[in-house]
Amino acid sequence: MADLIFKKHTPGRKGYTLPQNDVETKLENCIPTKFQRKKDARISECSELDVMRHFIELSHMNHFIEKGFYPLGSCTMKYNPKINETLARNIGWLDAHPLQPKETVQGALEMLYELQEDLAKMSGFENVTIQPVAGAHGEFVGLKIIRAYHLNKGITHKNKIILPDSAHGTNPASVTMNGYKTVEIKSNDQGKVDLEQLKKLIDDNVAGFMLTNPNTLGIFEDQIEEIAELIHSVDGLMYMDGANFNALMGIVKPGDIGFDVMHFNLHKTFATPHGGGGPGSGPVGVRKDLVKFLPIPMISHTEDRYFLDYSHKETSIGQLHTFYGNFAVNLKAFVYIKMLGSEGISRVSKNAIINANYLMRKLEKYFHVPFNNNCMHEFVASAKWQKEKNGIKTLDIAKRILDKGYHAPTVYFPLIVPEAIMIEPTETEGKNTLDKFIESMIEIAEECEKNPETLKNAPLNTPVRRVDDTRAVRQLNARYIWEDES
Ligand SMILES: *Cc1c(COP(=O)(O)O)cnc(C)c1O
Repeated sequence: MADLIFKKHTPGRKGYTLPQNDVETKLENCIPTKFQRKKDARISECSELDVMRHFIELSHMNHFIEKGFYPLGSCTMKYNPKINETLARNIGWLDAHPLQPKETVQGALEMLYELQEDLAKMSGFENVTIQPVAGAHGEFVGLKIIRAYHLNKGITHKNKIILPDSAHGTNPASVTMNGYKTVEIKSNDQGKVDLEQLKKLIDDNVAGFMLTNPNTLGIFEDQIEEIAELIHSVDGLMYMDGANFNALMGIVKPGDIGFDVMHFNLHKTFATPHGGGGPGSGPVGVRKDLVKFLPIPMISHTEDRYFLDYSHKETSIGQLHTFYGNFAVNLKAFVYIKMLGSEGISRVSKNAIINANYLMRKLEKYFHVPFNNNCMHEFVASAKWQKEKNGIKTLDIAKRILDKGYHAPTVYFPLIVPEAIMIEPTETEGKNTLDKFIESMIEIAEECEKNPETLKNAPLNTPVRRVDDTRAVRQLNARYIWEDES
């Protein structure tokens, strides 16, 4: 460490031993004395082979989509073709610099422009910004556009956004961050928006309605036209959370059925592997009269070149991310769309729906499915029967699923289904995998009857047994233990 030189930023804080009048100083002098090592650190020495084996072994202790089925509902954990990764790593894209003269990145701009266009075509909206970098970021942008729409007309009193009790947590958070009040509407006994209740909630203060479709119960909200009419009657706007767009592509265009604004989750629907927090992309599409509020810049073109378009900056909600958003995620989505074409894209959705219905029908005899009309790309089961009869919780079942070599489904969400088990197989799984999963789930259901203790102690075969879900957060103590230490 002794020769590492860098510039100091915080001169002379208490506890620091900084040489006076010395612009460049040694790293060790910038670390408060009380945090400096008394002895050199012990660093183990291994051969390359040992290091490789260590990390490969660690990776095998983990779960990933190439290793096994990953039915995590609401997240669309599907297998993504590796060609997207390969192309995104292509040196031509990778080395492009955001400040490069636009004449030298015409190909990149053309790609982004076409992505805007393709997403707009698929969703039935006039134009799409590819700037937001997550679904939640898209929600924030979309709601800002709704506010801009009203303010532009001189309407300042609208302060409420209605959303269903099955909404994803980011929805009320985005509503609040935009300065609106959340008005929650209960789902009816079919898991859909309750129209009668909606009629009672409508008043002139309503700025918009935020709806996930298919909703987080995996059910298609088929009363959109009626809902849209009610919301539009008070000049509110219809916002669609498009996280579940992988059930609609090539089948339904949200812009055609009454939605005014929508975000996509490219990292769920369009071939960026996710989980663990990013990176993502949350483009937002809008109807024609809202285009002028989209963030700046958009990607546009003249006859012979593409450019960053700031021309609507007077009306725009502003710039919400630097440059081109998450370029590589947008690129992967572009490749995915072009490779599948419109035929292939609609097959993605159809297969996702078929897979989910197949699982639901095979499992509904063994696990309670509260809303069991035909589902879309996912369905919500529950451990209601197992809990009542054998004292088994959803968490126990989720842990036992790990023993069978699968990632657990989403549990305890949506909040309106007690002991929820939310299963999303995605379109990329074949019948063999689904049948094996069904077999494992039936074995678990039988085990709940015959041997409930096994479930309460599960998982039994994983590298780490059942952990305390919150202790690691509260008392983090992660340190390598040497062989000669106890
Ligand atoms: C994932 C998800 C979001 C949020 O998207 P992020 O990209 O994680 O910010 C919003 N709504 C629904 C229904 C989702 O599944």
